[in-house]
Amino acid sequence: MTEKYDLVVIGAGPGGYVAAIRAAQLGLKVACVEYESRLGGTCLRVGCIPSKALLESSEKYHEAQHAFADIGINVGELNLDLGRMLEKKDSVVTSLTSGIDFLFKKNKVTRVLGHGRIAAPGKVVVQGEGGEQELLTENILIATGSKSAPLPGVELDGDVVGTSTEALSYPAVPKHLVVIGAGVIGLELGSVWLRLGAKVTVLEYLDRILPGMDLELAKEAQRTLKKQGFEFQLSSKVTGARRTDDGAVVEVEGKEPIMCDRVLLAVGRVPNTDNLGLAELGIELGRRGVVPVDEHFQTAVAGIYAIGDVIDGPMLAHKAEEEGIACVERIVTGYGHVNYDAIPGVVYTHPEIASVGKTEEQLVESSTPYKKGVFPFVANGRAKALGSTEGRVKILAHAETDRVLGVHILGPRAGDLIAEAAVAIEFGASAEDVARACHAHPTLAEALKEAALAVDSRTIHL
Ligand code: NAD
Repeated sequence: MTEKYDLVVIGAGPGGYVAAIRAAQLGLKVACVEYESRLGGTCLRVGCIPSKALLESSEKYHEAQHAFADIGINVGELNLDLGRMLEKKDSVVTSLTSGIDFLFKKNKVTRVLGHGRIAAPGKVVVQGEGGEQELLTENILIATGSKSAPLPGVELDGDVVGTSTEALSYPAVPKHLVVIGAGVIGLELGSVWLRLGAKVTVLEYLDRILPGMDLELAKEAQRTLKKQGFEFQLSSKVTGARRTDDGAVVEVEGKEPIMCDRVLLAVGRVPNTDNLGLAELGIELGRRGVVPVDEHFQTAVAGIYAIGDVIDGPMLAHKAEEEGIACVERIVTGYGHVNYDAIPGVVYTHPEIASVGKTEEQLVESSTPYKKGVFPFVANGRAKALGSTEGRVKILAHAETDRVLGVHILGPRAGDLIAEAAVAIEFGASAEDVARACHAHPTLAEALKEAALAVDSRTIHL
């Protein structure tokens, strides 16, 4: 049967499903093709959401073990029911993925189960369990996301030597987990298993953790994580890893091999363009396998668009969402825009690390004159009451115009606090604007106000 649509979206991750809903709101007849039985993509099924569920649960366990007694709560002997913790994580995932089914129905987005391939401009062929189905359409949006990047010599076995997917469901707490890569995934999932009792060794090729993030905060984060028990081996190039009879072995250039019982490979992700038919359409992949697009997310072929992890830029769910919305709004209204200077990034360790805008390194490199205001959480009343005083807020503002250029936070709930900074950058606010805005007391957000005051050397509480 051949159906005719205005838009066919391939991929139902945060980029694709949000674009499909927005397009339907704008009056388009939309289909969304997805081969996984559950909607939501990597983020909802095996990424952001399950990892956050485990991070929250493991942090509670860790607090019960290490922080409750300090505030006068004695809980006796603690037991970890890992099975229950994993079930809870799965139930969070199920409720959210089925929520997208509901949203599709509500917005009259047709869901098509199967693998989508672009047979020609305006034609998507879906290979499902029951055979092939052809969808005719005015526009096609590729939102197929990304997959774990392989590393030569690392023999993934889907169990002992695995990726983030396996690390969300280890059946028992590893005695010794070796994480390859000190990026976001390595630090987040490393935190989960460290808190639950594993020894965690992180092997990182570079001489720093969290490449791309503000170096000063990354160094402070490393010190904090080390105090929690993380073992970091920087400037360590992993050349191989494989399963052994009683665990796994990891090979590092110029060093002794490391024996452990689980390996998590987290050296980045690559665009997922498998069997989409792009080469046949004349769409050549760019550097690192990305689908090249113009400023309106159109590929080399008219009527075929791409957004999210398959195109250039940070591989973040919210970046994909913004692009999806901008892309379909432009198709319908002629206008759509993403402000890439105001896309926040969050690492959900404890404390959290969040940033938006330029890093200090980027400002130095571009010879942009800047002023810097820093305020530590140790001087914030709410952080003291929370018992979480590590970290700081750092605001970078233009030296002449005072415009906020970058905000970097290491501290409690940094991932929520960064929203104010993103709004400030989006609105072109000055540090003075942030400093003059009334912030409720006592809140963690006051640390942002104080850092903004510090840009002009006039903090009150330090
Ligand atoms: P990453 O790019 O953040 O970090 C990978 C790290 O691996 C880098 O530090 C790199 O130097 C290191 N590395 C590469 N080759 C190595 C080798 N041979 N030996 C040792 N180290 C090596 O990648 P990731 O952590 O896998 O995350 C993948 C993507 O998913 C990222 O784009 C990230 O932004 C996204 N993500 C985001 C969140 C979040 O927003 N909270 C969470 C998870 C993942």
